[in-house]
Amino acid sequence: MVVRRDSAVGEQIPDGGRKTAKATEEAAPTGQTASGESAAAKKPAAAKKPAAARRPAAAKKAASVAKKAPARKAPAKKATGKKAASSKRAESAAKKAASSKRVASAAKEASASVKKAPAVKKAPAAKKVTVATKKATARIKGTAPARTVVHPPGGESRTALVRRARRINRELAEVYPYAHPELDFTNPFQLVVATVLSAQTTDLRVNQTTPALFARYPTPEDLAAANPEDVEEILRPCGFFRAKTKSVIGLSKALVEDFGGEVPDRLEDLVKLPGVGRKTAFVVLGNAFGRPGITVDTHFQRLVRRWQWTGETDPDKIEAAIGALFPKSDWTDLSHHVIWHGRRICHARKPACGACPIAPLCPAYGEGETDPEKAKKLLKYEKGGFPGQRLNPPQAYLDAGGKPAPPLGAG
Ligand code: SF4
Repeated sequence: MVVRRDSAVGEQIPDGGRKTAKATEEAAPTGQTASGESAAAKKPAAAKKPAAARRPAAAKKAASVAKKAPARKAPAKKATGKKAASSKRAESAAKKAASSKRVASAAKEASASVKKAPAVKKAPAAKKVTVATKKATARIKGTAPARTVVHPPGGESRTALVRRARRINRELAEVYPYAHPELDFTNPFQLVVATVLSAQTTDLRVNQTTPALFARYPTPEDLAAANPEDVEEILRPCGFFRAKTKSVIGLSKALVEDFGGEVPDRLEDLVKLPGVGRKTAFVVLGNAFGRPGITVDTHFQRLVRRWQWTGETDPDKIEAAIGALFPKSDWTDLSHHVIWHGRRICHARKPACGACPIAPLCPAYGEGETDPEKAKKLLKYEKGGFPGQRLNPPQAYLDAGGKPAPPLGAG
């Protein structure tokens, strides 16, 4: 019986209750918790003091009772009362009576603290508050700042949003198992130059332009020493060729002067290069160095908003918000999947909703053509039976029916 009561106070609380107490202690290390346990722990200590002087056993008992069960209150009083009554000497009787009072007082205090034992029973209430607070705090503190800026749409819980987002990525991975960066490159230098050139134009056009550039200027040293007019002539098909010439010559000089002619593999170094922002840096990190990165280009921005993964419009905030929905290891492939879907099916002006494999997961279904036959005609690249953007695509892409893009001037 006693054991049960003890258990009721200290052990029979569900795990959550113990966690609550622990969590509460963590939250309030001074011991001033909502739970009755800490209060009960203090009171017996007070009860021990008067009892220890004369009746350590009784005091201990009282303290023990105080710690364990309210039912002990009455026996404690009763035992002490009996001892006072059995005293023969008046002085002793008086002392014992006094002692009795003290013990009774101790027992009372113990009782009082035990009365607070129900507070232990109230632990579930404390649990509710404390655990919820802890989890909420963990969400905010333990993750990227993005967690504070992600606002799940239309009442969708964050958990549901994460599940839906990851499911979309899994579905896209099945649709585009060969997804890859669509710029041709054979080393980090070529990739960083090609990515800078890809601003305001298609990857196809860059891929058709860079063979001549890299044939003539294969290293950062070569491009750093190039005559700008010669480079401009090569880059003319890419558009903004003067500015792009300035950027690629400038970044080549920076590579030679600051990084020994090598492309750095750190974000903070890459963004210092002329013409290189976070988007370009993540393309290089993810695809030339195998480091996870999210590439927030125009397709990525459009699609994550259509899917209501985030309402942010600033690329850096989008990057942070989406990064918080996925494990880091998924970031690079996720970027490919989203960008590929944007290029092939979920176009800016007329998304091919009727031919979209993730339509059931998309809140924007219907924004484009929903008729399956009409939607099929909107598909691009290998989905529409046309060449891709790379002149030298990976074998997996060719195996899946993809076609290499033609060189410049081939029609
Ligand atoms: S259903 Fe339409 S809007 Fe949604 S992802 Fe597919 S193509 Fe884009």
